Amino acid sequence: MRGRLVCPFCGHGEEPTPQPEPCPSCGVPLRYELPPSKAGWRGRVGRGVWRYRAFLPAVEPVSLGEGGTPLIPSRWLGPELGVRLHFKWEGANPSGSFKDRGASVLVSVLAALGVRRVADDSSGNAGAALAAYAARAGLGATLFVPAHASGKKLAQIRAYGAQLVSVPGPRPQATAAAKRACREDPELAYASHNESPYFETGLRTLAYELVEDLGGEPPDHVLVPLGGGGLYLGLVQGFRELMGLGFLPLLPRVHAVQAEACAPIARAWQRGLELPEPVRPERTIAEGVCIPLPPRGRELLAGLRETGGVALAVPEEEIEAAWRELPTREGVYIEPTSAVAVAGLKRLSAMGVINPGERVVVVLTGTGLKHPLSDV
Ligand SMILES: *Cc1c(COP(=O)(O)O)cnc(C)c1O
Ligand SMILES: [Zn+2]
Repeated sequence: MRGRLVCPFCGHGEEPTPQPEPCPSCGVPLRYELPPSKAGWRGRVGRGVWRYRAFLPAVEPVSLGEGGTPLIPSRWLGPELGVRLHFKWEGANPSGSFKDRGASVLVSVLAALGVRRVADDSSGNAGAALAAYAARAGLGATLFVPAHASGKKLAQIRAYGAQLVSVPGPRPQATAAAKRACREDPELAYASHNESPYFETGLRTLAYELVEDLGGEPPDHVLVPLGGGGLYLGLVQGFRELMGLGFLPLLPRVHAVQAEACAPIARAWQRGLELPEPVRPERTIAEGVCIPLPPRGRELLAGLRETGGVALAVPEEEIEAAWRELPTREGVYIEPTSAVAVAGLKRLSAMGVINPGERVVVVLTGTGLKHPLSDV
């Protein structure tokens, strides 16, 4: 496979393998790098994630038509705040969230490298996406989930034929159990949405699409909800690559929004730290961003500084209000986790970080169908 795995901090590099270890000196997950070329960008064909094949590992795609999602102009919130707002509607992906972009690339790479069985720890959208693409590729999938997990996402994972292993105790126990199982069984590959470089590579296609869809008018600001931070890092890396090639004049400010109930990155950013400290999570309806210590925290904080992004935390009432407003006023049915970024936009506008007339994109990360209002 072409490309290399590189440490974002010390330059340590190695050949792509199915389950790369973190950097031996810095302990952070490695990043997949392929020298991007102008010819590769000009040669894009088809639609969706694999349109940008020249920027992805050269493997046979395992695809369900992921990416190529709608960019919807806001009819209410944008005018209300005086900004030129678009929503990137990631709920339109095959399994219902942006995680399909990452899972498509990750499963394609693992299948090409001869892996037959994959594992991850997720009872949510990442688990559903991995289970879907594993089914598509004919791979076995095992999902380690907290014993208290339930709901429509779990039913979806099961429907794709994945094996569920219930792990007692808090959420980090499921991660530990998945890692242990993969160490003990060399045939089982850890296909982590929070750590795998190939998953993050797939998420860069979101940046490529935004640059294409907005033509010569790239956004001034992009807002995403942040949990593990793969989405944030993928977007920034995608923008960086296109800027390096001269297809983007400057990096948009990429802002990260967390739920107050679990906001290690927002807290570290506010205190000017280079590394996040773990938090004890409280209850939140934004279940998809409840990660007490993101493994790529150092890279996330560096990315925020590089793009001039703000990391902020929003309270439950504001998340819930935004979640109720989006379907009613914009016609887009999102899950509560996606509403975190909408609440963040209102705050950044009130704070004067985002100003009237600016171009803004809010990534709406997942569909509301798995988390209906009636379940609350
Ligand atoms: C996973 C997820 C997020 C958070 O993305 P990270 O890459 O973990 O930061 C946000 N919204 C939804 C709907 C998700 O499933
Ligand atoms: Zn390093």
